[in-house]
Amino acid sequence: MRPIAESEIRACFINCSRGEAQRLNLPRDFAELPWGDLDFLGWRDPGAPNRGYLVAERAEGGRVGIALRAPSGGGRGFTARSICSICKTTRTGGGVALISARRAGESGRNGNTVGQYICSDLACSLYVRGKKISAGTLLDETLDLPARIARVEKGLDVFLNKITAA
Ligand SMILES: [Zn+2]
Repeated sequence: MRPIAESEIRACFINCSRGEAQRLNLPRDFAELPWGDLDFLGWRDPGAPNRGYLVAERAEGGRVGIALRAPSGGGRGFTARSICSICKTTRTGGGVALISARRAGESGRNGNTVGQYICSDLACSLYVRGKKISAGTLLDETLDLPARIARVEKGLDVFLNKITAA
């Protein structure tokens, strides 16, 4: 994805208040993010461990930012093996967590949320490219890189559609 400025990031959130978007903490390495290797920007709030964020450019509908909640503990059992619903990477040791997001608009204001198992550090783009590897990561080697990236885009689309569905 192309680099996005801080002000653009804070302006694009669709499921939290303006105040929340203004207060959120950007990734610590914001100045040196590997934009060229990112299908979407995902990060955990360095100042609030149970919060995370995701910013993506959509084919239709432009740029969207999503505020996320993650379990504050280690998530599901540490030996459990879970598959990320976005990048389909299988990870153990709590590397995949049940991440939830308030839905956009009226539905979200009424308290409706969407939850999916997703890489807990939201670094799907880097896992599929082999740029980030964790002990419990099992990459699906039967697919080549373009196919893995396409799968991330599709998985992300499914998640975003659930959040934005009227
Ligand atoms: Zn993932």
